[in-house]
Amino acid sequence: MVNSSQAEWFHLDVMDGRFVPNISFGLPVIEHIRKATNKICDVHLMILEPGKYADAFKKAGADNLHVHIEACPNLHRNIQQIKELGMKAGVAVNPHTPVSLLSEILHDIDIVNLMSVNPGFGGQKFIPYTLEKIKQVRRMIDERGLNVLIEIDGGVTLDNAASIVAAGADVLVAGSSVFNAKDPLSAIKSLKAL
Ligand code: ZN
Repeated sequence: MVNSSQAEWFHLDVMDGRFVPNISFGLPVIEHIRKATNKICDVHLMILEPGKYADAFKKAGADNLHVHIEACPNLHRNIQQIKELGMKAGVAVNPHTPVSLLSEILHDIDIVNLMSVNPGFGGQKFIPYTLEKIKQVRRMIDERGLNVLIEIDGGVTLDNAASIVAAGADVLVAGSSVFNAKDPLSAIKSLKAL
C-alpha cells in the first residue's frame, strides 16, 4: 500500500526500551523493508549510544539516520559518522528540549526532527507548542541560508497538518492517522494535497 501511495519516505522508529520506555524493532525488519521498497528509508533511532550501530543501519538499508540530541553527548561526532557512511544526518529533538541547542550543529545536518509527542508510543496527541518550535527552527535555517529539512514526528493528522506546514515544516510523519484510516491511500493523498 505504501509503495503505491504518494508517500515519499518510510519513517521507521527504532526503540530500545532504554532511551524510550518501549521496544519496537531493529535491523532485520529494516533489511526486509529495504528489500520491499524503493522509497527513502528514514530511520529514527530512539536508542542510547546510536554511534555503535550507525554502520549496521547503513548496511540494513537506511538512507537517512536520525539520532536524538538527548542521547548524544558527542553529537558532532555522531553526525560526521552518519555523513561519512553516506547517509543523510538527522537530529531528533524531544518536546522538552529547546531548539536553541541546535544552534551549533544546524549547519552540519540535513534534517531536524521535531518530536511533537513524547517518543516511545504511537497514537499520541500533537503537542501544540511544537508549532512555536517549528517557527523558531525555520527562522534559524532561513537566516543562515541553510538547506535543512524540518520533519515533524508525532500526532500529525489531516486536521493539524495544514498549520504544521504553515509554521514551516517540510516533512510530515504520519502513523496512526494513515494506518488507522479506513482508506490509508486516500489519507496519504489528502495529506499530500495540503
Ligand atoms: Zn519517528
